[in-house]
Amino acid sequence: MSDVISQDIDRVLITEEAIEARCRELAAQIEADYDEKHITPFIVGLLKGSVPFMAELIKYFRHPIEIDFMSVSSYAGTDSIGDVKINKDTDLSAKGKNVLIVEDIVDTGRTLAEVRKLFYNKGAEDVKIVSLLDKPDRRIVDIQADYVGFSVPNEFVVGYGLDYNQLYRNLPYIGVLKSEIYE
Ligand code: 5GP
Repeated sequence: MSDVISQDIDRVLITEEAIEARCRELAAQIEADYDEKHITPFIVGLLKGSVPFMAELIKYFRHPIEIDFMSVSSYAGTDSIGDVKINKDTDLSAKGKNVLIVEDIVDTGRTLAEVRKLFYNKGAEDVKIVSLLDKPDRRIVDIQADYVGFSVPNEFVVGYGLDYNQLYRNLPYIGVLKSEIYE
C-alpha cells in the first residue's frame, strides 16, 4: 500500500488476489448454470461501478457471451421505488434474452429491483443478478442477487469500481476510507 491513492485507505477489506479467485469461481458457477440449459447469457454491466468486476469476471467464461452496458441513476432521498432514470440504455435489445445484470454492490436493493423489472418490461426471457458485494444489513427492498462475490459489513467501501465522489474506482482492492477523507 505504498502508492499515493492507498494513503487514503484505512484498511483493506478484500484483496485483489481474493477478488480474482472469487471471479474465477463465480464465472465457473454461472457458466455451468447457463450451459445446462444451452443458454448464451446477455451480460449487462451497470456503469460505472461494475466495470472492473465485469472485466475480470468475463475473462473466465469459456463459451460465447454477449455483453453490453447500461447507466441508471436512482433518485436518492425518496422513499418511492419505481424511480430509476436511464442515462444510457443497452445498445442491444434484451427481448427474448437471458439477462445477467452485473452490479458492484447491493445495498438497499432499490436499484436492482428496478433494473430487473425494467428488463422484464423489455421482454427479457429471464433476469439474473451477479454482484461483487452484498451489504445485507442495509436492505430495504426484498431482493437477493443470484450470485454474490463477498458479503461486507455495513461500512462505506471503495475500490474495484466503487467510488467516493467519483474517486477511488481504480483501486485494485476493496477498502475502507480513512475518516478524515469524509470530514
Ligand atoms: P442500492 O440501490 O442497492 O441502495 O444502491 C446501490 C448503489 O449504491 C451501488 O451501485 C453503489 O453505487 C452505491 N453504494 C452502496 N453502498 C456503497 C458503498 O459502501 N460504497 C460505495 N462506494 N457505493 C455504495
